[in-house]
Amino acid sequence: ITMRVEDLVTLKKLGAGNSGTVSKVLHIPSKKIMARKVIHIETKELIHSQIIRELRIMHECDSPFIIDFFGAFIDQGDVVICMEYVDCSSLDKNLRMTGPFPEVILKQVAWCVLSGLNYLYDHHRIIHRDVKPSNVLLDSKGGMKLCDFGVSRELINSIADTFVGTSTYMSPERIQGGVYSVKGDVWSLGLMLVELATGKFPFGDNSNRAPDSILDLLQRIVNEHPPSLKPEDGFSADLCDFVDMCLKREKERGDPHKLMLHPFLQGCETPEFKSEVKRWAKNVRRAQKGKAIK
Ligand code: ATP
Ligand code: MG
Repeated sequence: ITMRVEDLVTLKKLGAGNSGTVSKVLHIPSKKIMARKVIHIETKELIHSQIIRELRIMHECDSPFIIDFFGAFIDQGDVVICMEYVDCSSLDKNLRMTGPFPEVILKQVAWCVLSGLNYLYDHHRIIHRDVKPSNVLLDSKGGMKLCDFGVSRELINSIADTFVGTSTYMSPERIQGGVYSVKGDVWSLGLMLVELATGKFPFGDNSNRAPDSILDLLQRIVNEHPPSLKPEDGFSADLCDFVDMCLKREKERGDPHKLMLHPFLQGCETPEFKSEVKRWAKNVRRAQKGKAIK
């Protein structure tokens, strides 16, 4: 089916980021609930059609760790992407609601993110480039899916043009303009795990997005020792080591395949593990609903 602007009814706004706005919508012809992301870009029409063409690869992505794609179109100069609606929101919002995640959930995060990265790279040679809590979506069964990955070179370029983006989950080698490989996403995963385990972004509060503070932050990521978790704070030795492996300098850092073999991720496919994650997700869903009624 072709997605058209007139077939979508807005149900509610889900959030807004640097690049766009996301809403929960109903697609009338199919009666399907979807998430619609509208990205404002300022480029020529020629580029628009190129972006839509490039986004088509997403039709071929088929993995439980990757958001489903329904189609994309241009509306009044904006790029509109229609994707699967995931019912328990992104990890950043859940972190704010529940506080630090228990270790089983961190395991699930690492397992799902690495599985998604491997799928994207092995099947489509796609590097995600924007792994962070707001781009990992949770469903009420405990599944986690990646969204907002870099499928379209032209879209990446167009957004970079309009927004001087300084993603704080960027790896040191990327900040320094070096080669960017799938290992950059592993760094972002490591940083995200520290944040989800402690409840705080590891390089401090950067809500002051003044140019100075961003430059300062980038410099610290490049120059300081990477953040870490400590067993004396109640984290398992396996988790601490896993995070260390993710946050090594590029040369020594493992790729997603190697990290999936780490002891921290043993048992992620057992029924006991899955039902524990499911139980947690159910509680999260309940808490979210409670909040929504108030
Ligand atoms: P940035 O623009 O820096 O990437 P972001 O990821 O928070 O930040 P958006 O990608 O625009 O910004 O997403 C806004 C919010 O919409 C997300 O935080 C998430 O909670 C929600 N969201 C995005 N996609 C979906 C989806 N498919 N299903 C449900 N909620 C979604
Ligand atoms: Mg996003």
